[in-house]
Amino acid sequence: MTMNTYSITEVCPHDIAYIKVIDAVCGCETTVLTCTECKKELEPPKTEC
Ligand SMILES: [Zn+2]
Repeated sequence: MTMNTYSITEVCPHDIAYIKVIDAVCGCETTVLTCTECKKELEPPKTEC
């Protein structure tokens, strides 16, 4: 049951998350770790180019 995954239970009671792409401009992707259940953003958005 306990796996070495994101510790997101501090933010919401769920324990499953995915990386949501919120923006993609000129090859730069802005992503945010989002709870699959309640859609809450669990971390500040990150931009990768
Ligand atoms: Zn949640």
